[in-house]
Amino acid sequence: MGRVITIDGPAASGKTSVSRELARRLGWSWVSTGAFYRGLAYTAKRLNLNLDDESQLSELSRSDSWKVEMTESRTRVLFGDEDVTDHITHEDIGSIASKISHFPQVRESLLEGQRDCRERTEGLVAEGRDCGTVVFPDAEIKIFLTARSENRAERRAKELGLEKEEMAKAQQIRDQQDSTRKTAPLSVPESALVVDTTEMSFHEVVQIIEDFVKARI
Ligand code: C5P
Repeated sequence: MGRVITIDGPAASGKTSVSRELARRLGWSWVSTGAFYRGLAYTAKRLNLNLDDESQLSELSRSDSWKVEMTESRTRVLFGDEDVTDHITHEDIGSIASKISHFPQVRESLLEGQRDCRERTEGLVAEGRDCGTVVFPDAEIKIFLTARSENRAERRAKELGLEKEEMAKAQQIRDQQDSTRKTAPLSVPESALVVDTTEMSFHEVVQIIEDFVKARI
């Protein structure tokens, strides 16, 4: 079982790009736990499932009709044999993911797959909302990334070629849902290093975190 570093934070705070680059520099594996929720959201939508039905969703989360795979550059989602990774990045899938992620049974069913990512690795950098609090509470190092909401909306709108205002609204709803749900809400893990990336370049953020990590492992 490998060592673990967790990076949590709100939508579009830079978690994915920063955690992936950190993993690359350390020579460790990397996983986006959001891909589990997005993959389930995508599959449920494709299969026309009732998004309010907790037990059906939880059953689907354990089914082998879809799966998540770690690679160096992406956390891939397969629907059957079809690679649907490009489809899960859309904000409408993010919104469904946020809607269904408050169900305790769904979260419980996805936990095992997320924890398995640590097996057979020297080390794992895991990013999400509850990686440091619930998925890997024993992680050696915990980071919490944040940024002003306008900057986060602008960043993601640019990436996806969408209107900034529309993106800001969707993210606000998602952040509100993610931070106020009863089970595993988005929160700063105890002893986490909090990095506000609003005024920082990508390179600066990665460097600060890499220095922090290297001083401790
Ligand atoms: O990080 P990402 O934007 O891909 O996550 C999509 C959604 O999945 C989040 O808005 C959140 O509702 C859910 N999620 C979660 N716990 C995680 C990762 C993601 O609830 N560890």
